[in-house]
Amino acid sequence: MPTNLELLSPAGNLEKLKYAINYGADAVYAAGQSYGLRAKSSNLTLDELREATKFCHSKSTKIYITVNIFAHNRNIEGLEKYLKYLAELKVDALIISDPAIFALAQEHAPNIDIHISTQANVTSWRSVKFWADLGASRIILARELTISEIKEIHEKVPEVELEMFVHGAMCMSYSGRCLLSSFLNGRDANQGFCTQPCRWGYKLVEPTRPSQEFPIEEDDYGTYILNSKDLCLFDRLEEIISAGVTSLKIEGRMKSLYYVANVTRAYRTALDLILAKKTVPKKLRTELDKVSHRVYTEAFFDSFNSMSTQYHKTSSYIRSYQFIGEIVETSDQVKIAIRAKFSVGDEIELIFPNPNDDRKIIVENIYDEDGNSIEFTKPNTNIILKLNEAIPENGIVRMKKNEN
Ligand code: SF4
Repeated sequence: MPTNLELLSPAGNLEKLKYAINYGADAVYAAGQSYGLRAKSSNLTLDELREATKFCHSKSTKIYITVNIFAHNRNIEGLEKYLKYLAELKVDALIISDPAIFALAQEHAPNIDIHISTQANVTSWRSVKFWADLGASRIILARELTISEIKEIHEKVPEVELEMFVHGAMCMSYSGRCLLSSFLNGRDANQGFCTQPCRWGYKLVEPTRPSQEFPIEEDDYGTYILNSKDLCLFDRLEEIISAGVTSLKIEGRMKSLYYVANVTRAYRTALDLILAKKTVPKKLRTELDKVSHRVYTEAFFDSFNSMSTQYHKTSSYIRSYQFIGEIVETSDQVKIAIRAKFSVGDEIELIFPNPNDDRKIIVENIYDEDGNSIEFTKPNTNIILKLNEAIPENGIVRMKKNEN
């Protein structure tokens, strides 16, 4: 087993970054407010990037910054300044897909490692070697590779670090080659503005009969013909490690802090057990069903079968649990910043960085911040719970959704 194995989690903002680290990430990836591919995520201001880097390094965690748009002429000047700023912060690496930004980074941030983004579609050992010869220290492989291809890449160029996505949403098209959003509403995915038209439902309309809609059916369900399932390689971690991949990446900079924390924790716990040569309990896998997700797939891991990665019934998320708050104070009382409603009498679950600390409680009392007893919580308020026991810090509160 490699000693430099890394669990890499998304950090869509400063708060999520801290949860990712507290719940077990070895490294996080984030973006500034320009030049990354998740422009709709809140992302980090220049000052927050400084704070994030400081926080990560104080926790011995690495921070990688995505600069993976495909740049136009108008971007170049701003990129030069931005790259110099990231160099001054001493972030641990830049994630890049465009050769122009690669060259600019070598010029303006020469001491910062460069990781080649999955957007660059690296699918062969020769392409890995190409980027490594130019100075890249790590390659984030295309999602469209099988594990035997990845193994062969590692055997041919063992000196180059390999990173791969193990969990999260996927594109229906080849990563980085999608023009759907740009074509349908002028929002360019390759500039970070994807509006996810692959998740939309489509119907056929004849222009002179606008009120008459014809379903598009590939099969009995065939409405969401472009909708990809979500990747989940939780059951394949040992094979991934044996193939020579050293960084395991979780997608989700636009997901909630609960999603980031719980998915990170599940993979952290599994990796630690695998490294200790212990069995990963089946119930750990069920934690991945308790965050909002689409139907899971192992995608191209065994073979390149694109049909098995699509889900036609719906593009909606499966949500069996609701994220209802963050525990923000644990001193003599438990203060919770509320995201969703729960009431006296409900069963809620408190989860913590160490799964052994998790507990379920039936809510016997709720107090507002002035100490008044209340029957139920309202989003965006703080409430107090009086528990009979001390609890660890950084807890998150969730509740099973009513199945009716
Ligand atoms: S439209 Fe869908 S497939 Fe295309 S870039 Fe956006 S998320 Fe990916």
